[in-house]
Amino acid sequence: MEKQERMEYLVELLNKYSYHYYTLDDPLIDDKEYDVLYDELVNLEKELGKILPDSPTNRIGGEILSGFEKHNHLNTLYSLGKAQSKEEVRSWVNKNEEFVRNYNKTHEEKLPELEFCVELKFDGLTINLTYDNGYLSMATTRGNGVIGEVITNQIKTIQSIPLKIEDKRLIEIQGEGLMPLSSLEKYNQTHEVKLKNARNAAAGAIRNLDPAVTKSRNLDAYFYNVNYLEDSELENQAQMIKFLKENHFKVHSYEKTAKSYEEIEKLIDEIFVLRNQIDILTDGVVIKINDFRTREILGYTNKFPRWAIAYKFEPERFTTVVKEVEWNVGRSGKVTPTAILEPVEIGNVTVKRATLNNIDDIERKQVKINSEVFVRRSNDVIPEIMGVVDPNQENTKEIEIPHNCPYCHSELFRNGVHIFCPNSMSCVPQLVKRMVHFASRNAMNIDGLSEKTLELLLDKLNIKSIEEIYDVTKDKLMSLEGFKEKKSQNLINAISKSKDVDLANFIFALGIPEIGEKTSFELAQKYKSFDKFRNAKLEDLIEIEDIGEIMAKEIVEFFNDETISQSIDSLLSKGINIKNPQEIDKKLDGKTFVLTGSLINYSRKELTDILSNLGAKVSSSVSKKTDYVVYGEKAGSKLDKAKELGIELLTEEELNKFLKDL
Ligand code: AMP
Ligand code: ZN
Repeated sequence: MEKQERMEYLVELLNKYSYHYYTLDDPLIDDKEYDVLYDELVNLEKELGKILPDSPTNRIGGEILSGFEKHNHLNTLYSLGKAQSKEEVRSWVNKNEEFVRNYNKTHEEKLPELEFCVELKFDGLTINLTYDNGYLSMATTRGNGVIGEVITNQIKTIQSIPLKIEDKRLIEIQGEGLMPLSSLEKYNQTHEVKLKNARNAAAGAIRNLDPAVTKSRNLDAYFYNVNYLEDSELENQAQMIKFLKENHFKVHSYEKTAKSYEEIEKLIDEIFVLRNQIDILTDGVVIKINDFRTREILGYTNKFPRWAIAYKFEPERFTTVVKEVEWNVGRSGKVTPTAILEPVEIGNVTVKRATLNNIDDIERKQVKINSEVFVRRSNDVIPEIMGVVDPNQENTKEIEIPHNCPYCHSELFRNGVHIFCPNSMSCVPQLVKRMVHFASRNAMNIDGLSEKTLELLLDKLNIKSIEEIYDVTKDKLMSLEGFKEKKSQNLINAISKSKDVDLANFIFALGIPEIGEKTSFELAQKYKSFDKFRNAKLEDLIEIEDIGEIMAKEIVEFFNDETISQSIDSLLSKGINIKNPQEIDKKLDGKTFVLTGSLINYSRKELTDILSNLGAKVSSSVSKKTDYVVYGEKAGSKLDKAKELGIELLTEEELNKFLKDL
């Protein structure tokens, strides 16, 4: 009995020492003392012929496995939505702010003011731990989010992970297994085969059938989520972090909150620099809404929580030099700085230009001419300058902020962090860009009216406003360089054809600030006629889901502007025939649709609404009565069944075309 008690005592004592050493980084005793106690425990366990479940001797890993078992997670482990640029973070924040505002207008029980938690995005392997009755009962990988692989023995070799915790409930927690850079370095000093990358080294170690390999890599783990907690009392992220800490899980000390996009942006930049100074790999920043009730109401898409977003950094950092700064005028007159760079290769693309966003950005990041800067590029977005390598760099020159429009020389004005050219009437680049938008596919859809052609029309035919596009004649076109008979006729035909336009496309074509394609569609559905929309009241607009105060104000101001109003009248006088949604409403009457798989551009609800508005029925199961099956990625049995029954199948792209052609 005495020996049993001594064994229990030693387990508890050694676990306490480990916790202080590995999790708190604050050792209580030196390694030698620890080893003596550890050896004593090993001998006692041999003598008594038993090992307690939370004994540190369990951390050696055990036998080589023949394969990984599967495990169903108690709750889906979601991936994260990604922001490719800060603008996307900003619009995510805006969207959530509008959501909360709208929600609070219509609900008694208000949501709290939004607060965001900003943390590191750990770059390792996601691990999921189950604790039952206080003991670590299972560890798994994320797998596909629903089913993971069992890696309990591998995970037990990670010293900072508690084998036993205070709370006795059924718990699943999520974190990231990582190989600290210092572990990687040490490992490489003593091993023939060198590990190149800490992320792959960690993932390879955890998903290794031999736990001894896992152990040899000295991994660590940080936790950021309670994925399941029986009778949970947790109301927000802050409480959740506290819960994790109280149960001795390792939580990273970088855990900050922000109340606005501007505050978030500062933290992103802070982490961008910090990530070079810490012992673990981070590949970005994760931003989460603090309040759990808000999270619940926002919910999830097929793959992601709507209440969190990841802003990812490029794996490698690229630096180059700013040679000069060019100022460009956009569609709305906004004048934005673009840095002209010493060309640099990033992911097989030569980057020569990068956006500097606005004046505020230039000042905050302390970018100057000749500055050596970090550049970030990700798919489909304009490269961005993230910061300067050395704010005290010599031989740099301040970037001059223009006072006059680089094109029309009008005096610029400042609004918030942006500067604008007020000359919306005759500032050529503004006009060209507005016309490009006007002619684009989802607006008036004028085939052949490219930016180059428009520049030509403005220059040679002296066109000064959008509506004058409809006055262009074939003869005039044929006087232009490169325009022969056929090409001219085609363009004239396209211009003429565009006069028949759906209300939604017409609304989009107007280029009202903040109003995109989807919103245009919703507005058309709601107002059903251009006149009604044009005269909509602010109070009325705000009532529409997805339209917040900002958008509503933009719409009202847009139509209140005398010049805009006149030019719309003049445009309408060219014989524009706007087709109201009623006319196409019943186009899908009596048709039954089934949606399956994950769609990219719509949520299920959005698409259901669109189809229902067209008179279609959206059903959840495929039968002989089904007319169309719209399928996205990972479509399962419904797709198979539809194929079997010979039902017409549509991809998302085909559906878009189908709807357009109605
Ligand atoms: P990705 O693997 O790039 O799709 O990013 C999503 C993954 O990031 C999640 O499944 C998590 O495993 C991981 N991750 C790393 N750090 C965090 C964090 N602080 N919060 C949430 N997820 C994180
Ligand atoms: Zn101008």
